[in-house]
Amino acid sequence: MQALDLTGRTVVVTGGNRGIGLGMARGLVEAGADIAIWGRNEEVNAEAAAQLRALAEERGTAGSDASAGLAPGVAAFACDVSDPAQVNRAMEQTLERFGRLDSLIANAGVSGMYGRLHELDLEAWRKVSAVNVEGVISGCQAAIRQFLDQGEGGSLVLLASLAGIEGAGRNSLYGATKGAVLALMRAIAVEYGREGIRANAILPGWIETEMTQGSVSSEVFTRKVISRVPYRRWGTPEDFAAAAVYLASPGSSFVNGQQFVIDGGYTVF
Ligand code: NDP
Repeated sequence: MQALDLTGRTVVVTGGNRGIGLGMARGLVEAGADIAIWGRNEEVNAEAAAQLRALAEERGTAGSDASAGLAPGVAAFACDVSDPAQVNRAMEQTLERFGRLDSLIANAGVSGMYGRLHELDLEAWRKVSAVNVEGVISGCQAAIRQFLDQGEGGSLVLLASLAGIEGAGRNSLYGATKGAVLALMRAIAVEYGREGIRANAILPGWIETEMTQGSVSSEVFTRKVISRVPYRRWGTPEDFAAAAVYLASPGSSFVNGQQFVIDGGYTVF
């Protein structure tokens, strides 16, 4: 389907070297996008890039595929999104490599310090918000500047969380960062809509990644929480591939300011 074909489009996925970000990056490559993943760990970046390149080669040589011969490009750049200078540098490197930008998925995130709010100090807030809020702001700023220069609009996808819309007891600081991400997404949707720049958010439910390893290995958590997911399983990074493709594609060009909950039905149970 042409509306979902990303051939010739460039997408950045922050935190694309593992977890949900890598799941989305795989889907984007399969849809034909040139992709740049940004992450801090260069070894993990290189492993993920090799995996994505193999996928790109498969796509490029698929005989029956309309885009056969055009293997999507894959690049990985070291970047700590909490440092705006590194974000700007990674954007420059991405543009040097691919020449344009069509979408940025602000996915890089960290979990916060668990505990009762009155016992947490502000240092814990600064640590989680430096990545989950400031990192997302810097990524969006760099992408918007490029979208405005190109004059063809663009798509921003921000990774929030159910913690941004539900009461996240004992996880309040993380929840506050994700609420901020949702407010930022809606503001961008309104502020830049007339320039063809849209912003949407993905809100994952309980997804098995490094971030959730502690809960995945907890029998109590699985019994008490995963039993309330109508699908009765943890989500996987692959569950996010098609949503990323849709939101980065022309197929969603009139979709702006929305929240996509991907949780196996957890929030409606
Ligand atoms: P993971 O911990 O598995 O992966 C996090 C990714 O972010 C890694 O690629 C990591 O790479 C990168 N990252 C972390 N800090 C930075 C930084 N300072 N600069 C650049 N990259 C960074 O997390 P998930 O895949 O589980 O989470 C992805 C997103 O989804 C996050 O925003 C998270 O809050 C959100 N989410 C996840 C849920 C879940 O159940 N897993 C539920 C709800 C929301 P590196 O370490 O190399 O920098």
